This record gives sequence, C-alpha cells and structure tokens, in this order.
Amino acid sequence: MFAKIDDAARKMLSGTILGKSEMVELLGMDTDSDECAYLREKACECARIVTQNKAYLWGAVGVDYIGCAASCRFCSFGKEWGLVKGERIYTLPEIIAQAREYVESGVHFIVLRTTQYYPLDALATFARAIRKEVEGDYELIVNPGDFDLQTANNLYENGVNGVYHAIRLREGTDTPFRPEYRIKTLSAIKSSPLNLIHLVEPVGPEHSYGEIADRFLCAVEHGAYISGVMARIPVKGTPLGDIPQLSDNEIAKITAVLRLSGGSVVRHICVHPASGAAVQSGANVVVVETGAIPRDSRPSSGKWLNFDALSAKKLFEENGFTVG
Ligand code: SF4
Repeated sequence: MFAKIDDAARKMLSGTILGKSEMVELLGMDTDSDECAYLREKACECARIVTQNKAYLWGAVGVDYIGCAASCRFCSFGKEWGLVKGERIYTLPEIIAQAREYVESGVHFIVLRTTQYYPLDALATFARAIRKEVEGDYELIVNPGDFDLQTANNLYENGVNGVYHAIRLREGTDTPFRPEYRIKTLSAIKSSPLNLIHLVEPVGPEHSYGEIADRFLCAVEHGAYISGVMARIPVKGTPLGDIPQLSDNEIAKITAVLRLSGGSVVRHICVHPASGAAVQSGANVVVVETGAIPRDSRPSSGKWLNFDALSAKKLFEENGFTVG
C-alpha cells in the first residue's frame, strides 16, 4: 500500500486524476493503520506544494432560516421535519455587516447560503451591494438552488465569483432531486465564467467508498475549483438524525484521498467541520458559519460551535500554513 500511496502522490503532482478503483482502494484502508498515517502525511505534503503553503477561510452567511419544501432527509430546514420554529430571514444590511466582519477578520471566501427556492435575482442584488459596500480582495460565492446559464452569467456580472453546487450523496434518494436535474446547473456553471465549488457531502457511515469516489469524480468532471468533504451532522428529528457522525480521523482519511485524487483540476480542498486531523491531511480551506445553519435546529447569532475566523487561523498557523 505504501507504494500505491507514493504513486498517487506522484500522479497528483503531475496533474493526473485518479480513477475510481484507485480511490476506492485508498479509501478502504484502515483509518488507524500506519499506511493511513503515511497517506495523510503524503497528502499534506502535496497540499503544501500545490497551494504554496497557503490556506483560506470560508465564511458562510446562512441567509434564510425557513422550512424548505424539498425536505432532504439530512437537513434541519426540511419542512416535513417541523424543526424550524419562527422563521428568520437576514436583511441586506445584516448580510453586508457580516460580510464586512468576515473580510476584516481575514476570510477569503464569502459565501451566501440560501435554501433551494430563494430568489436568485435577490442574490444578484446582494452581490452588487456587497461589492459596493465591502472593499477587499475576497471571492464572493453563492449557494442557491438550481438555475440556468443566463442566471449564472447574471450572477457573474453582479460580482459573484463562484457558486457552491453539489450533487449530494444519495441525491434522489435522500433528496427529492434527480441527479440529472442538478447536473444541468453544474453544466450551466461550467459554461459560465463562474468557479464551481462542489464538496462531497453530506458524508456519513451509510455511504460506501464507491459512492464517495463517484461524487468526487463528478465534481472534477465539472471542473470544481474547490472540493473536499463535508460530514453529515446528525440533527435529531431529521430522518437521518440517529445515524452517527463519522469520526474526525475517518473524515481526515477521506480528505487525504480527495487531495491526492483531483490532479491539477481541484485547487483547494475544504473540510467541514474543521479539525487538526484534516488540516494535517491536505485540507487548506475550513468553514466558519453564522445565521441559518442546515446542520442545526436553530439559527446561530454568533459563529457555529464557536468556531470563528480567529480559531480557523490558529488551526492553520499551528499546522504551518499561512492564511491568505
Ligand atoms: S438541503 Fe437544501 S434543498 Fe434540501 S431541504 Fe435543506 S435547504 Fe432545502
């Protein structure tokens, strides 16, 4: 296995994307083995080379805390689960103030996250206003529902740099959307000047390594600029709420395999929630979030789990990365 890890690292550094069977073999190794420790070390070495040791913070603003009619089986906003009590929709001045605070505290990716049916023209208006009001060298990302090429171009023209969009694990089974429906949006993003941000998510013990590899390779095929892994957080009261969360070490192993699998396509590997283990395994982006959080049953007026920009910076700096 050590030779296969070396081979994967060599391929990554020469820009070669791993195949599904190579990924599944690496993902299948025992999380507590010496081989896995070596895999994580190699992935971190590769991350330092391709990122020039630079890490970035992602600051999410959850714009709307409302019941979402899609009712995905892992999401606290699902209308059917009845967890959303007292809707809260953040106003443009609140969003601008949060974006400013993020930029001032060193966040590079400002992400406006909304539920599936939130109006896209409002997001274009927000983007324009944020660009006008918040100075700085940041990338503005939106995370809405599905849309076409015209909307993608309109978002770009209003100051959006990228879109978070993912075919979730078990899309069409744990969600009401057929993967083909989501692929249309991925194709619209690819045909536009927008960057695609597509993590493999929400990963839990119910998913096979083949499913994880398939989702990552689909993100690569659509040219993902940031990929990575997001754990499914079990929210009590959702249908998947009693299935436990994966351990930090298992998420770190997946992080390492994704770092070695994306060739020269995927530039950044993000992990959520953040951990030292994942940063030591090739992740160079972590998430700070506030407002409406689909992993929690109530909105967060501060930063989710008290993980703020300062904590994120400290995590990277302790592990030898410079925060960009
Ligand atoms: S994951 Fe998105 S689409 Fe699904 S219920 Fe939550 S907000 Fe709606």
